[in-house]
Amino acid sequence: MSKAILLDFTKCIGCRACEKACAEEHRLPDDPPTDKLNYKNYTVVLQRGNQYFRKMCMHCQTPVCVSVCPVAALEKTSDGPVIYYPDKCMGCRYCMMACPFQIPKYEWEKPVPVIRKCIMCNKRVAEGLETACAWVCPTAATRFGDREKLIQIAERRFATFPGKYVEYLYGKNEVGGTSVIMLSGIPFEEMGFRMDLGTTALPELTWTVMSKIPNVVMTGGILLGGISWIIHRRMQIDQEAHSHDKDHGNGKGGGK
Ligand code: SF4
Ligand code: SF4
Ligand code: SF4
Repeated sequence: MSKAILLDFTKCIGCRACEKACAEEHRLPDDPPTDKLNYKNYTVVLQRGNQYFRKMCMHCQTPVCVSVCPVAALEKTSDGPVIYYPDKCMGCRYCMMACPFQIPKYEWEKPVPVIRKCIMCNKRVAEGLETACAWVCPTAATRFGDREKLIQIAERRFATFPGKYVEYLYGKNEVGGTSVIMLSGIPFEEMGFRMDLGTTALPELTWTVMSKIPNVVMTGGILLGGISWIIHRRMQIDQEAHSHDKDHGNGKGGGK
């Protein structure tokens, strides 16, 4: 059965134990930024109003990062984690452009940069253990388990605690479903989570568009939408690179 992580932001006390456990488990640098995802961290705890929340890879059920990678450096495992193979990564950054959640980060400062992101503790999961961030969480705000069971647990909370939650289970259906699902007491938009992603897996959308290319009238809108989305992502990534260069006083940099 496919595994998942349930994040219940109403239970999060902002202790950042998950960040620390993740950094230790994966031997990440000890000087990551604490206000955003970066190649030095796999998850970050943020705050909006009185609520804490986490950002991390959503481990999409049908991940577009996997389908766009030309060298199969990313893979969706049968357990649920979307993992990557740094030795295969050629630094093209297609996954960065394609990811609807803006998750993969690039090692701009390294001489041979690759992509970095949460891998859902795939080795622990393969051994039957929970992820390090779930294991360490003192309030069960981060919980690991079977995806279907976690969805049932999450949806029961709407009835058990009326008024406590925004009655929307984020990740149940977004882009075909994700292996990180979220409960919140405030609207997801307020934390920067996109509500316009739809329920179709993006790789499926791509193939649908490709297969219908002769029928230009039927597919033109989707295709133009897709092109505009990719251009928008390219601009965001260029801005990210530009602000990184300004922060570090570099010229144009990063790619191989
Ligand atoms: S959130 Fe982005 S990086 Fe993570 S699996 Fe989905 S498409 Fe890939
Ligand atoms: S699932 Fe593992 S890799 Fe991902 S944020 Fe949690 S501890 Fe880090
Ligand atoms: S360990 Fe749990 S309670 Fe602490 S910041 Fe992370 S999710 Fe929140």
